[in-house]
Amino acid sequence: MRRVATTNERFHLKQFNDLGLAEVLLRAVSAEGYTTPTPIQVEVIPAMLAGRDIVGIAQTGTGKTAAFVLPLLHNINQQRVVPGSKCCTTLILAPTRELAAQIAESIRTYGRFMRPSVAVIIGGAKPGPQIRAVAGGVDIIVATPGRLLDHMASGVIRLDRTTTVILDEGDQMLDLGFMPAIRRIMAKLPAKRQTMLLSATMPKQIRDLAHDFLNNPAEIAVAQVARPIERINQKVMHVDSTAKRGVLVDLLGGPQVERAIVFTRTKRGADKVSLHLQKAGLSTDAIHGNKSQSQRERTLAAFRSGRVTILVATDIAARGIDVDDVSHVVNYELPNVPEAYVHRIGRTARAGKNGVAISLCDHTERGMLRDIERLIGCSLNASGDLVPHVSMPQRSAATAGEPTGAKTGQKRNSHARNHRGKSAAAEPTRRSEAKPGNAAANAGLTRMLGTAGDKQKRRRSFAKSASGSSHGRAVFQ
Ligand code: AMP
Repeated sequence: MRRVATTNERFHLKQFNDLGLAEVLLRAVSAEGYTTPTPIQVEVIPAMLAGRDIVGIAQTGTGKTAAFVLPLLHNINQQRVVPGSKCCTTLILAPTRELAAQIAESIRTYGRFMRPSVAVIIGGAKPGPQIRAVAGGVDIIVATPGRLLDHMASGVIRLDRTTTVILDEGDQMLDLGFMPAIRRIMAKLPAKRQTMLLSATMPKQIRDLAHDFLNNPAEIAVAQVARPIERINQKVMHVDSTAKRGVLVDLLGGPQVERAIVFTRTKRGADKVSLHLQKAGLSTDAIHGNKSQSQRERTLAAFRSGRVTILVATDIAARGIDVDDVSHVVNYELPNVPEAYVHRIGRTARAGKNGVAISLCDHTERGMLRDIERLIGCSLNASGDLVPHVSMPQRSAATAGEPTGAKTGQKRNSHARNHRGKSAAAEPTRRSEAKPGNAAANAGLTRMLGTAGDKQKRRRSFAKSASGSSHGRAVFQ
């Protein structure tokens, strides 16, 4: 792949008007209040309009949905193809039902002045209305892979006239075991098509997928999953596991908490925590994979509207879900996959806002905390001041999530060991601070909660900061 330009070199020059989008879309973008395209939009929109296949390395919060929805709506608007019955012009695959529904919502928002036809094909919902929705053909299907395959097998959906395919959150689809299903779906698509693959990380299986199904793709990388955005004030509290519930109630009862997501590792854990918070008089509900689709939708709608202010979730809600004004994310339990930490905390500080992420870490979770710190390249502490691991090798977005080479791994571990020595010495004080009911602890909690505005000094325009720490990242083709 040949280096052509850096994101930094290009995106300062561009406005939405410069990207070649139809007037109906420019109007919709302006109605949404967007003034400047984000770096991924600057890169992806012209490449998609030029008909290129694309591999996009970007996490949620960068404006990636509009980056692919706007050009595909542009093409639908220009080409005015009438989709054959049971067919769609564009297929978008997403890992979770919530993300699929959210993408469809974005299509309706950006397509409000052209009214494209959209069908959402997801599990957990009745098949009848889905079958009726696609019977006469639609412009766009947004689907999760399992249900789409079911409909393809029963002859209700055909993909032989689909000309554009978007695979969103590729690495999460991989984590959820969808790779065989995706390969089966891809095999049914016409060879002549445009394909875009988006993923926050680029593990080998995703590279292989791109190699097998994309044609000379432009590779566009705008943010590193390993570097959580700067607007999130990240803190850790060392707490005994038995004290976690009490600490959580104290944290979430504070006036600074407008809207919060609490993450647990298990579905049962999410239910238990939610019940405990309800008993403490807090407005909360749980969302996880054991809930029916209609329950999940109701809960999410209540959280979005503000009727419920605290959502207790497993990692299913960690990616893709875009709810404005989440002021706090609390990791009630640390994730055992360090990348999930980055996705979880990315639920706050969206669209240019600031946020606070607090992790409750008991002694069994210290190893997980070290893995997270190694991934993000910083030590986390109670004050929220990140201490960078200065000499640690930088991890590129293209390799984040890939197994590291032995040599690099050794180097990282030795940094982690040095760092471990220091943080272990400081822990007893922090743990006693965290005990609920003690005055010093309450002062500590107030400090811990901070405000979502603590880091305002470093505020930048959303479009600029959405490029994460990867300013100057090369774009290859
Ligand atoms: P995404 O990365 O697609 O999940 O988008 C994150 C958030 O950014 C969404 O709430 C979008 O509405 C918002 N957004 C997308 N593009 C822009 C833009 N150019 N300017 C301001 N906000 C945007």
